[in-house]
Amino acid sequence: TVALKDVTKVFKDGTPAVDRVNLDVNDGEFMVLLGPSGCGKSTVLRMVAGLETPTSGAVLLGGELANDLPPRERGAAMVFQDFALYPHMTVGDNIAFPLRLAGVEPDRRAERVADVAGALGISDVLARRPGQLSGGQRQRVAMGRAIVRRPGLFLMDEPLSNLDSGLRAELRAEISGLTRELGVTTIYVTHDQAEALTMADRVAIMRKGVLQDVGTPTQVYGRPATLYVAAFLGSPR
Ligand code: ATP
Ligand code: MG
Repeated sequence: TVALKDVTKVFKDGTPAVDRVNLDVNDGEFMVLLGPSGCGKSTVLRMVAGLETPTSGAVLLGGELANDLPPRERGAAMVFQDFALYPHMTVGDNIAFPLRLAGVEPDRRAERVADVAGALGISDVLARRPGQLSGGQRQRVAMGRAIVRRPGLFLMDEPLSNLDSGLRAELRAEISGLTRELGVTTIYVTHDQAEALTMADRVAIMRKGVLQDVGTPTQVYGRPATLYVAAFLGSPR
């Protein structure tokens, strides 16, 4: 489980980027953080990842206070919009890289890479370099590299925003299918309502650093907690 308790983040100047957010993400759940640009989604995700420290409040991982836990000790994998693959390495080596760092044996590495590549439909491009792939294939490689060590927590920040709409739809289904198959707890950030409502087990909607509503897509769309949520989701009135 991931739990945020009254989490606030204030950067040097100005108003809180995240303002007393309370949110629980259950084991194996696909939680989508949704809201307009600048509402604090990435800041929330970065605090869960350990890339930012809360100004106040608590981030709990598996019930343990994690505010000062270094990122590498959190068992989390991340995929960002501008995911960086290693251009000089093959696709296979890119995916295997986290395993190599962890000292996993070559045979075992090859086995895991084959599994992951199979699941993502990129088995036929393992020998290529990232420069020789389409955008969608690159995104799949980034996902493969993120999940290859079987993370307990998968954090994604607008991973599809650089792709065209056809590919987005295809990868949406793939991502939600894959994370559910793996049973991995996922927090997925997007500003796209359709993406959120189609992918999520539950959606958390933010505005100006404040959490407005949390619920299943049916709940937040059908019974929005605030007028803002209704307008943002285009709920029928
Ligand atoms: P987007 O959809 O555009 O990615 P977001 O919801 O992810 O937006 P955040 O990146 O979390 O929003 O930013 C929330 C607020 O915090 C914004 O006003 C932003 O300018 C501010 N902010 C984010 N990071 C920093 C930082 N390192 N220093 C100062 N202010 C920051
Ligand atoms: Mg962001």
